[in-house]
Amino acid sequence: MSAKFNFRSVNSCLLVFLFTFFTAFGYETDGSPSDNYRIHIDANSKKKAIVECEITLEDDKLYMSPIGANQFPSRWAHFVNDLEAWSMKGEPIKIDTLAGSNWKIHADPGSRIKLKYRINLDHEDFKWSGGIDGAAYARDWGVFYTGRSIFIMNGQQKKDITVEFDIPKKWKVSSPWTNSLSQPLVYSVNNLTTLSDSMFFAGTHEEYRIQRENFELIFAFGGAEIIVQKDKFTSMAEGIMDYYINLMGGVPNPSPEDAFDKSIVILNSSSNTDGEVIGNHISILLKENGDMMSEMIGRFIFAHEFFHLWNGKSFTPAGNDCEWFKEGVTNYYTLKALYHIGFLDKNAYLKTLNDLFYQRYDKDKGVGVYSLTQGDLKHDHWGLIYSGGMFAGIAQDMIIRSSTSNKNSLDNIMRHLYKKYGGTNEGYDLDELESLLSEASETDQAEFFKDHILGTKRIPLYKYLNMGGFDAEETDGSLLVQLKKEQNGPEKELSDGFFGVN
Ligand SMILES: [Zn+2]
Repeated sequence: MSAKFNFRSVNSCLLVFLFTFFTAFGYETDGSPSDNYRIHIDANSKKKAIVECEITLEDDKLYMSPIGANQFPSRWAHFVNDLEAWSMKGEPIKIDTLAGSNWKIHADPGSRIKLKYRINLDHEDFKWSGGIDGAAYARDWGVFYTGRSIFIMNGQQKKDITVEFDIPKKWKVSSPWTNSLSQPLVYSVNNLTTLSDSMFFAGTHEEYRIQRENFELIFAFGGAEIIVQKDKFTSMAEGIMDYYINLMGGVPNPSPEDAFDKSIVILNSSSNTDGEVIGNHISILLKENGDMMSEMIGRFIFAHEFFHLWNGKSFTPAGNDCEWFKEGVTNYYTLKALYHIGFLDKNAYLKTLNDLFYQRYDKDKGVGVYSLTQGDLKHDHWGLIYSGGMFAGIAQDMIIRSSTSNKNSLDNIMRHLYKKYGGTNEGYDLDELESLLSEASETDQAEFFKDHILGTKRIPLYKYLNMGGFDAEETDGSLLVQLKKEQNGPEKELSDGFFGVN
């Protein structure tokens, strides 16, 4: 593993150096000064962040991200205190507080102003529907903020925003932003969306970086219990990353409108296991002294969210009617990845298929009522969209494999979509999926789509597993499945394909 550790070729080092040399931090590409944020955190009062910024006004509105913190009338501004503004000469500027996390500033567009405010890191005193992992929290070893929770912004067009940190000497910052090589705690952020969809951890945590081609995965590990397991996590992540790259034929290749070459995964110990993805980044909390199930869920969250950098970001559905493919097929490859790295054996894989997916499908009241194309229901009907989509993916994989003597599979569809849509702004649609799947299996899938994708007919998962060398039945709300005792050669190939071996 050490040979793979944090390598960078001499050439890419040189490129980074040249890039930094010619891109002066603090200026937009047209030479005008960019917006600059300075975040001060004191070791003795970790639960306060003082933010000072200099911004050039595009209009008279100041705002924080409109996503999240719905439980407060003032949204993210619930945690903002003592917001003040001045002209560059130091004259106070009036600010009116508006509804939500919005303000009106009494200064002319085009003028450059200073802002100062304090964020009280009290987010953990409140209930969060998605969990604290998507908001902000403090630990003994440092602080976690999402961009949403800390940045007050102005305008829409800002580029090359600078974020600087003033933190205790022993601390460091893990963030997905581009670091200035000459100034260790100064970062450049390409636009406001990237700023608000980001997250960072500042403290005495440990960091680990994995580089493949031009893509970098950054891990921040916090808490003694997590740090002792960091080798386990990083070898897991490298194994999963290499499995996905090999499957797809390359590193994530997002649309130019949402370009990224770094993802950060922030892992901290906590009282509960939870995970959230924001932008291209993953925040995971792992329960201290967690059991096998919470270990499984922590890894599952990582492998699922990470696969979205391909299935979701490199190729994207044009509409909600393909959410089942994005979420469900991702679940299928998540299990394959966890099998590939040896975290799950065959029995654990099949048990997870029942415990985590089949059970939720079977109990979901939307199954048989709504169709898989109703992706807008995915939060209320996880079982229908996430499990049902997974079962549609398994069914199609088995159909393709069995009708082509295992020459073709769902893997080919993934590679095709990645190749066709990676690096573009286009998305795939339902008709294209139907024709790709029909071509791959050399059998018309119109009826499958009519019944199980556009229609509301339950997917008989056992039937498709039995095509692939399993003995499966669905009894009393459970999926009972095992490998066929006496598999013939083709059956063995199909079941191996199901586990992601070929
Ligand atoms: Zn997902």
